Amino acid sequence: MKLLTDLSLEELKQLTASYGEPSFRAEQLYLSLYAGKDYAEMSNIGKAFKERLQADGYVACGVKIIESYVSKIDGTVKFLYELTDGNIVEGVLMRYKYGNTLCISTQVGCRMNCAFCASGLEGLKRNLTAGEILGEVIAANRYDGGDLSERKITNVVLMGSGEPLDNYDNTVKFLRLVNAEKGLNISYRNISLSTCGLIDAFDRFLEEDIPITMTFSLHAARDEVRSTIMPVNKKYGVDKVIEAAKRFFERTKRRVVFEYSLIKGVNDGKEDAEALISRVKGFPCIVNLIVLNYVKERGLTGTSRKEAYRFSSMLEKAGVAVTVRRTMGADIEGACGQLRAKYIKKND
Ligand code: SAH
Repeated sequence: MKLLTDLSLEELKQLTASYGEPSFRAEQLYLSLYAGKDYAEMSNIGKAFKERLQADGYVACGVKIIESYVSKIDGTVKFLYELTDGNIVEGVLMRYKYGNTLCISTQVGCRMNCAFCASGLEGLKRNLTAGEILGEVIAANRYDGGDLSERKITNVVLMGSGEPLDNYDNTVKFLRLVNAEKGLNISYRNISLSTCGLIDAFDRFLEEDIPITMTFSLHAARDEVRSTIMPVNKKYGVDKVIEAAKRFFERTKRRVVFEYSLIKGVNDGKEDAEALISRVKGFPCIVNLIVLNYVKERGLTGTSRKEAYRFSSMLEKAGVAVTVRRTMGADIEGACGQLRAKYIKKND
């Protein structure tokens, strides 16, 4: 299987040329692909050419929305995307005053196995290709009636299932594809990448000079706590994560975000707030507190709203910029950490 959305416009031009097709055919194909169309809907592309592409294993639309759930609370939409091999990933569309943000997945499942997150419950099934990650954006854009001439998705966050930096090449290629001028042209500033802190991959990413917003999932500022909830901490501890965030700031002058999910009795005490303050004070960053969303299999509970505000006011008083994140899509299990991989067995 080869996915046409894995290709940049340049690469698509080379491909169409290799079939003896004129270069404007690549542009037509590109428009159709980015409108989320499958071959059958591409009326402006000759039948013979489409048949040759299909015979050679090229897939036009590798990501299809098979289910969408709309939150009654806030209009957030959760999508189930089906991939060509029957695997399913989830995405979440959040509507804000300034535009629509799509939360996308980079892997089917996840290897990181954080103690509070649903995505890693069954380990990693496989990486998504760049074109599949892009396909999530294209499909959601189409769902809202958009195409290349009218873009409905303005912001993208790589915060769905998977660890983006554990699928490095595909994630980087995706970022370039989604930003491409003739493509969806989503500005890097409107893209956030969240990592649990794979620092070697992150340092490689710094060299790519892709000026997106960086978000680090910190969740605890003491190694003895962070190691109990995030296995990755044994390799990349709190110091390493914070130093990496500082390198990012030095290089880009962009504020980083530290995600901190408040878990009752685990990381929400006074000593946890103090440890966090001592680590980030004076560093231009934002601490984004989220009350942990409930994941049945994980058995951890979120801090109460009241305690969360107490935690946040401690940070505030110490001069640390902090936000308490609104939970969106909780009634459709679309909230942070609730996304999971599913597999529909085909031909059963
Ligand atoms: N692997 C990346 C991307 C996942 S992003 C990362 O770790 O950053 C999803 C964000 O939601 C992360 O900050 C993650 O730690 C957080 N999260 C996971 N499970 C959660 C839960 N049950 N409640 C609240 N946040 C959660």
